[in-house]
This record gives sequence, C-alpha cells and structure tokens, in this order.
Amino acid sequence: MSISQLAREIAESPTLKLNEEAQDLRDRGEAVIHLGAGEPKTKIPFEAMLSTAAQLATTEVRYTPTEGIGSLRKAILRYMEENYNKVLGKDNVIVSNGAKQAISAVLTTIINPLDEVIIVAPYWVSYPEMVKMVYAKPVIVTPGDGRFQPELDDVTDMVSSYTKAIIINSPNNPSGAVYKADFIGGLVEFCEKKGIYLIMDDIYHKLVFPPAQWTPCYKYSQVDPNQSKLIVINGVSKLYAMTGYRIGWTCASKQIVDTMVNVQAQTTSCPPLLSQVAAVGALTGLQSGVESLRLTLENNRKVMIQELKAFDGVKLIPPDGTFYSLPDFRAYSNDSVKLSKMLLDKVRVVAIPGKEFGMEGHLRLSYCTTVKDIMEGVARIKWALDPNSPNEIYIGDRKLVRDWK
Ligand code: PMP
Repeated sequence: MSISQLAREIAESPTLKLNEEAQDLRDRGEAVIHLGAGEPKTKIPFEAMLSTAAQLATTEVRYTPTEGIGSLRKAILRYMEENYNKVLGKDNVIVSNGAKQAISAVLTTIINPLDEVIIVAPYWVSYPEMVKMVYAKPVIVTPGDGRFQPELDDVTDMVSSYTKAIIINSPNNPSGAVYKADFIGGLVEFCEKKGIYLIMDDIYHKLVFPPAQWTPCYKYSQVDPNQSKLIVINGVSKLYAMTGYRIGWTCASKQIVDTMVNVQAQTTSCPPLLSQVAAVGALTGLQSGVESLRLTLENNRKVMIQELKAFDGVKLIPPDGTFYSLPDFRAYSNDSVKLSKMLLDKVRVVAIPGKEFGMEGHLRLSYCTTVKDIMEGVARIKWALDPNSPNEIYIGDRKLVRDWK
C-alpha cells in the first residue's frame, strides 16, 4: 500500500496509544492506575449541559458560520477582556474543533514549506508533528541544566532568517512550569520588533498555583491587534472539563482570522453547533467550577510532590500549574520509553515517557486523578524501581513477586 511520505513521518500520539493499552488491560480486569490522564474527571458545567439540551430540544442542529456562532464569539471576546484585559473585535476571533485544530489551522495559515518554528522543550507532543505537517521545520529549544523555565536568550539565540513563528505553552504541558512575566514580556517585545509570529497556547491558563502567576501576553503588546503578530489559542477542554466537546479558539489579527476561516471552511467547516452552544453556557455561566478544579489540583499536586519526595534519586521541579509533573528518573533509567513500558507491564501504572516531550529520562505523571491513585501509583513505581523494596506486593488481588532487577 502506498502511504505518503508526509503521513509516514508523523509519529503516533503516545498518549492516545497508552490510553488504548491501559483500556485494554482494564477491560481484562487488570487494576491499572492511570497517571497519564490529560483531562479533568470533573463534570461539565451545568450551564453547558442546559444549553446543549435546549438546542437539542429544538431538533435543529445545522451548519453554523465557519468562524463560529455570534454568541460564542461574543462570549470569547468578553472572556478575553476579563482574563487578558484586552478588547478585541469580532473579526479577531475564530472558533475551531478544539485548541488542537486551532493550532493546526494557524500553522496552515502562516507557515510556508521550509520555514522554521521554534518550540520550547519540554513541549506538548503535537507541536513538532503539526509543524512537520505543513512541511516546515520544528526547531527545539532546550533550556540548559534541566531547567523547565526558558530564558529569553535560550529562544532568541535559535532565531534565524527562516524563523516564522515561536510556540509558547505556559502553564506548560508536560512540566507544569508557568513562564515568568519578564520572559513573556521580553518575547512579545522581541517578536513584535522582528515580525515573528508568537503563538501563545494558553489552554491551562487558570490552573495555576500561587505564588506562581500566569501573565497574559497582550499586557506587553505595543501594536494594534490588527497589526499584531500575536496569536492566542485557548479553549474549554481543560478548565471546564469539556474535552469531548472539541471547542477551542484563536484570537489574532483580522487578516489571519479571515484566512483561517478559508482554511477551516475547506477542511472541517464549522465546529459542531451543540458544542458551540455548550461552550457559550460554560463561558457565560457560573465560573466557580474552574476554581474548585484548581483547588482540587492544588491539593493533588501537594500529594504528588510529597510522594515523589520520598523516592530516592527521583528529582522533581515542582509544577506551578496544569495537572502534570515531570520528574527526572535518570537515576533509574535513561530510556523513558522502556521505563514507561516496564511500569505498565509489571505494575500496571500508566506514565508517559518524557522522550515524547523532548525530555528523555523523565516521566510525565498526571495528578488529574484521585489522591488514592496518586499515592498508589507512585508506591507501585517505587516498588518496581527501588531494589530495597520488599520482594512482593499485591496489585488488586494479584500477588506480584519481583523477578527483575
Ligand atoms: N495544547 C495543549 C498544551 C494541550 O495539552 C492540549 C490537550 N492535551 C491541547 C492544546 C488541545 O486541546 P483541545 O482539547 O482543545 O484540542
């Protein structure tokens, strides 16, 4: 069978693959602990449910404008005003099928073949693959000394005449780092001066733990939004636990948004109406659910940090946001893919290999689960790796005997 060269070069999504493997094991009755989760387990906002149900009751579910329904774009503009202190116009926003499609449509809109796109490691697994899908080159910036916080120089030193865009994700998946205000400010200033697109993926922006603070990029912008190279991505997946609805958005100059509308019109058309009305409900309804999710995660994070502290050799830069931690397991293995496989095979714990995020020797452990699972999951990992652990443990009602070193 003939498969295109481009498609052959696109890597499988490691998180989705591990999810499938974990589900297969669970279906066979295995007591799997999932520390790979990339979505909150909380309920969707009540208002989101009500608006979906109300739309459904009309028995009319049709196409909408490609850029999204007016009420959602209006709700997004209000959201941008409240959270970014930025007044934008309706021509500056387009709704997509999740932040993932938003980023992909942005790249199709602004990138030419052979352009370079700078990505800071550790990075969300999809960025390099998305850049490759527009025949461009991902250029990875890795802050030195195992840091997760980039300095301005780390990024600007990698800029060349081919650099078209820089992608920034803060709070960061997978490290949980929240980038410092002076870094964001410096980068906005640099990109505006050099005419480089700055794509801010802010999908976790309210899941931040004090004293850390998230900084909206517009605070530092000196130019009119329609002249600006700033492109802001956000969505309802993470803050409102609405991953299955597939609603994300892009705020950018009118020219970019207009072109993105054409890109989207010829690929996926509008996002589903039911999802759009649900997003209106979420954005305009009570916001207390977001804060209670944040508080739960703050507590879970404490537990994760505490459990990992008791783990000799494992080093953790505590996350300041999101629901991920990225501990360094190099004291046990330099091969995170092998380590992740071993943990699933032997002790039924899902941990995502750091290699997939450009951080070999690390594992991404999500604390977007129950405190019980965090404690049990880390205990199992410790048992599997620590040669001083007792020789036997029980997983569910199955006795495990260590037969490896
Ligand atoms: N950006 C980052 C950093 C993410 O972690 C994710 C989801 N894992 C997305 C974007 C995509 O979110 P959505 O569900 O809105 O497509």
